[in-house]
Amino acid sequence: MSEGGAFMADVLTPKQRSYNMSQIHGKDTKPEELVRKFLFSQGFRYRKNDARLPGKPDIVLPKYKTVIFVNGCFWHKHEGCQYFVWPKSNTEFWKDKISKNADRDIRNKRQLESMGWNVFTIWECELKKEKEKTLSSLVEHIITDTH
Ligand SMILES: [Zn+2]
Repeated sequence: MSEGGAFMADVLTPKQRSYNMSQIHGKDTKPEELVRKFLFSQGFRYRKNDARLPGKPDIVLPKYKTVIFVNGCFWHKHEGCQYFVWPKSNTEFWKDKISKNADRDIRNKRQLESMGWNVFTIWECELKKEKEKTLSSLVEHIITDTH
């Protein structure tokens, strides 16, 4: 099977396509870096990609017993999101791959919560349209929900 761009070219709008491709190639945008920088600017201190915790959370705030996942809408199956559309070719392959990601996300979240962690998920689309609002409400939640 050939990997790469052709699979989605016919079924997505240009906007969705460039968004998905940026996720696939990974390096154009780094949403988790954006969240980290913001938290740092607000005085939070964190660990990155802590491999000791289920799912290797993007951001760990030990002081608040909080972990944050910054998820790409395509790979993590953000349901109802304009950026999440099943590709129409190689459908079985993508369904299998992406469903596994989503199941793993749910398992990791449950496991973390049972260990006493607060788990927040930020979707990449939330950092596109309403970045300020997303980030400030995240901070609010970290401070008020976690004591
Ligand atoms: Zn989304």
